[in-house]
Amino acid sequence: MPRRLSVVALCLALFLAACGNGNGDNSGPFSDVELRVNTPTAAPTEPPVTPTPEEPAELVLSTHEVYQAGALLVSVTGDVSEGVISFQGREHDLHQGDHSMYSFVGIDIDDPPGPAPLEVRFITPNGSKGSLSADITIHNVEWEVDYLYFEPAEIDEFFDPELERQEAKLLDKTYDITTPEKLWDTPWHTPLEGEITARFGSRRSVNDGPPEGHHSGTDIGAEPGTPIAATNHGRVVMARHLDIRGNTVVIDHGGGVLSAYAHMQEFHVSEGQDVQAGDVVGTVGNTGRSTGPHLHWEIAVNGKLVDPYRFVDGSNGF
Ligand SMILES: [Zn+2]
Repeated sequence: MPRRLSVVALCLALFLAACGNGNGDNSGPFSDVELRVNTPTAAPTEPPVTPTPEEPAELVLSTHEVYQAGALLVSVTGDVSEGVISFQGREHDLHQGDHSMYSFVGIDIDDPPGPAPLEVRFITPNGSKGSLSADITIHNVEWEVDYLYFEPAEIDEFFDPELERQEAKLLDKTYDITTPEKLWDTPWHTPLEGEITARFGSRRSVNDGPPEGHHSGTDIGAEPGTPIAATNHGRVVMARHLDIRGNTVVIDHGGGVLSAYAHMQEFHVSEGQDVQAGDVVGTVGNTGRSTGPHLHWEIAVNGKLVDPYRFVDGSNGF
């Protein structure tokens, strides 16, 4: 349309310049033609293009003080159509939320403590590019050591590095799911009340050997059959038996946040099912590589396992 209008406007201008005699005399053999030309509706003009004013982008963080294995909610308000967060050499795409574009950022358990700049590069609906930055501080966490003692035969029974590798690979794939839409809008809560028998991140020394690895979740001891509640709204993306985690449910909460419940006795949900915060997903059991009835509770953010309790104690700022 704009192309056709400009051609029409151009032709009329040329016609007027060629035929107008400058003295206002409309009589004579060409008067019919001149009357047609002067009809106002015959000369539509393209309205001037005024750029739509854009609301400046602004960076909003759930906190500037995070902990190793914590998480951060990064929002960008204003007129932004797409953007990428850079933090600790990792990149996270912004997703469209209700009132802003956002992404959760998982802090790695090995991210070094100290100042950690965060940058967002974005594009506005008018095509302009921009960037915003913030100074984050990552606080150190002292990971405790759990000393475990086993008979030599039990070591073979409980530890199988190849099985652990295979299961980690399967879970990595599941934890990489990023549903852009955030599926929850209520506070997070613990899946059950009970004694914490092993904290997230704790290192393990077996038979007085050197401390190794970090515990991938939080263990909560409870009687077999105790109901386990979904920590928030979401969709069940896994409900199956795994060799090490036993009967396991994984819930996708959207925005790259997923929670998992392992060593369960019974399943109360199936894959593809939507759940609400507090819905019973299963019961406490002792399935998989487990030394007694307990829940192993994990939370992953953008593929990174983080401390689940930071979702309920407010230290992530959301
Ligand atoms: Zn555990």
